Amino acid sequence: MKNHIIFFSGGKASFTVAHHVKERFPNDNILLYFTDTQWEDDDLYRFIYQAADRLELPMLTHATGLNPLELMFEKKLVFNSRIGDCSKLLKMKVAADFLKRGKKPLIEKWRNKERLKSDDFIQGATLYFGIGFDEMHREKAIRKNWRPFDVEMPLINEYVEHNEVLAKYNLRQPRLYDMHFTHNNCMGRCVKAGQAHFKNLKEQMPDEFKKLLKQEHHLKVCVDSYRYIKAIPDNEICESEREYLYQEIDDAYRDYFYGRMDKPKMYIPPAATASPENVKFTTYSFMKKSIKGIPKPYPLSRFDKELLEDEKQLDIFDFGGCGCFVEYEQDSIN
Ligand code: SF4
Repeated sequence: MKNHIIFFSGGKASFTVAHHVKERFPNDNILLYFTDTQWEDDDLYRFIYQAADRLELPMLTHATGLNPLELMFEKKLVFNSRIGDCSKLLKMKVAADFLKRGKKPLIEKWRNKERLKSDDFIQGATLYFGIGFDEMHREKAIRKNWRPFDVEMPLINEYVEHNEVLAKYNLRQPRLYDMHFTHNNCMGRCVKAGQAHFKNLKEQMPDEFKKLLKQEHHLKVCVDSYRYIKAIPDNEICESEREYLYQEIDDAYRDYFYGRMDKPKMYIPPAATASPENVKFTTYSFMKKSIKGIPKPYPLSRFDKELLEDEKQLDIFDFGGCGCFVEYEQDSIN
């Protein structure tokens, strides 16, 4: 009996791949493997649980315990299309640590575990990815990154209509597809996404867009405050004072970024009191794509006020976003 592990993302393609593997190898040991960013849409969980039940397959979920926003806060970095490793740390590394080194993350959950045909499900397993021919340029890098496992990407060579497969199982697609999102990641809030994606987020989920706009703003202030404290020369501040100030910033923002408060605690950014030579503030933003004629970075607040008002400048084909399991080109997880 052979082992098969399907990287299950909550997207339709990975469901199609799971169906394909089940049809081809009904008597083998098949596992759906989901790495959870914990920033997902509730309907994603409805979809993956129903999918696992209807496929009659076991599903293992792993998570670090941090979501992308919490990770940005911990790293004091604003992620966007040019910088940031949420998909790497919350998905790829979690999977690589487990499958290659047997290291489990903080959170582990099983569904339908009784359907696992053997507990030894990693040894010699073939790994499956739901990428299609439009992403086949990533194939080589993925295979290299997952050595020594065998890797299969059945959708590269075979076109399958995902909706037909879903219909076979009487399974409703994740609601984000109904809302015209191109993928079902991070509830449409992928900080690496593009202009068309954020436009759609505002139209489909205006409250979430507004919330994200505020989160971006508070992250910027928090990160800049940290950088300011770090930039004060050693002869102007002692280490205990510096640590104290770091702690003050942390205390002001922690509950907000961890979703325990609606806004940060009262906090005066150092800009208000800083001596000018130490102030080298930078502007950060999610969605750091180049926008014709507009200097980068381009915060969501400006995007909202300027670009969405004057749609002529908008790139309506710029969806972008996270490839999550297919993003790494370097040996970043080994
Ligand atoms: S979907 Fe975007 S925000 Fe979510 S983990 Fe992937 S890169 Fe990060």
